[in-house]
Amino acid sequence: MKLTIFGTGYVGLVTAACFADVGHEVFCVDIDATRIGTLQRGEVPIFEPGLKELVVRNAEAGRLVFSTDARAGVQFAELIFIAVGTPPNGDGSADLRHVLDVARTIGEHIDGYKIVVGKSTVPVGTADRVGATITETMAARGVAHVFDVCSNPEFLKEGSAVEDFTKPARIIVGTGSEIVRKKLHDCYAPYNRNHDKLMYMDVRSAELTKYAANAMLATKISFMNEMANIAERLGADIEEVRKGIGSDPRIGYQFIYPGCGYGGSCFPKDVRALASIAREAGFGADLMQAVERVNDAQKDVMFQKLSQAFDGNLEGRTIALWGLAFKPNTDDMREAPSRRLMEALWGAGASVRAFDPEAMPEARRLYGGRADLVLASSPQQAAAGADALAICTEWKQFRVADFAWLKANLINPVIVDGRNLYDPEQVRQHGLLYYAIGRGDSV
Ligand code: NAD
Repeated sequence: MKLTIFGTGYVGLVTAACFADVGHEVFCVDIDATRIGTLQRGEVPIFEPGLKELVVRNAEAGRLVFSTDARAGVQFAELIFIAVGTPPNGDGSADLRHVLDVARTIGEHIDGYKIVVGKSTVPVGTADRVGATITETMAARGVAHVFDVCSNPEFLKEGSAVEDFTKPARIIVGTGSEIVRKKLHDCYAPYNRNHDKLMYMDVRSAELTKYAANAMLATKISFMNEMANIAERLGADIEEVRKGIGSDPRIGYQFIYPGCGYGGSCFPKDVRALASIAREAGFGADLMQAVERVNDAQKDVMFQKLSQAFDGNLEGRTIALWGLAFKPNTDDMREAPSRRLMEALWGAGASVRAFDPEAMPEARRLYGGRADLVLASSPQQAAAGADALAICTEWKQFRVADFAWLKANLINPVIVDGRNLYDPEQVRQHGLLYYAIGRGDSV
């Protein structure tokens, strides 16, 4: 099948590469000419396991094309995916500018029947707005082609995006049209062989399902962080509590890790957007607001612990930081807890020596040129001679640490672990002070 995809970010590029890899002919359009140039040279502007190989292989085979030519994109295929960003407005609501820009572009160039597939995470009712925008734009041109708009929210996770796309838990299609069902069924068929994962529903329910899924996951994290804060004050160990509650099959072990707060491009913005959608519909959504507040406060916990370890005086200190990405296996630093920590440390007069296996270029892009940030070439180089070590991302390579080496090389024997990677007893045996999340303070 021929497919056009608007947006070559995490979702658009992964979708395009995975569809091309099963034989579809995919035309990708982005307004970012630099990004398109990079992709045309066979380079991939984001880090995502397995993605580069897919992009290169399918571009070389001629099944994956990158362009800024929106007209050619609209006219290339009957199925047009919208996978552009929906960043937050100042009030937390989703900014639909890019989505509606694409709708206008489709209206300007549409030349026959099209199925417009919404992959971006959008407020309930957006498919209707996309449809209305296409109709208005066509009317201004004096044409009236037939088209359908459906919702096909994306559930891939950064860090395992290719794996998630190729082995989806479910593929949601919100539509009332039999033609759309059939086309989407055919489009996804190569990734729907083991058992039928396609779930059809009405458009509004599909749009809300995406927000509900992210809100549930964010709620689990904020719930555990609240429990961790309670545990810490009561002398309990949240890691024991976690195992204790996870053993209940109604609760389960997944996604109940306490930590230094969730970040990334999705949970923070989607929780805020859902609260905003609910507000507009006249409903308070107290729980969503609390989830957001708890997370926001949790991002300050690392700094508070470091500050406490140095009696409130971090002026002139150098803090080693392991992990900049908002989670492992990605280079994405959007709303990462590491950023809140670094910015607080700089505000307190401390400097940071950081290491991350993938996010160093992104850190350089965001903070390059700062005298109080050094990007180290290894975890050891970051830690050697630093006043203390802070850990913000649970990359695999940080899970085993040489505590004897750290004791010998840190100026002060302080580790603040935002991901509860280590056994407190083992750390203590090496004469280090270990501040984790919800495990009692100094051990
Ligand atoms: P992104 O910011 O990485 O990429 C968006 C891309 O769209 C950019 O390259 C931008 O230049 C391009 N773009 C903007 N306007 C355009 C236009 N008019 N025409 C063509 N291209 C245009 O975004 P992303 O992380 O891929 O997210 C895209 C959507 O998918 C969002 O709604 C997001 O909430 C949702 N989503 C993201 C993830 C994730 O893990 N990143 C997962 C599921 C869903």
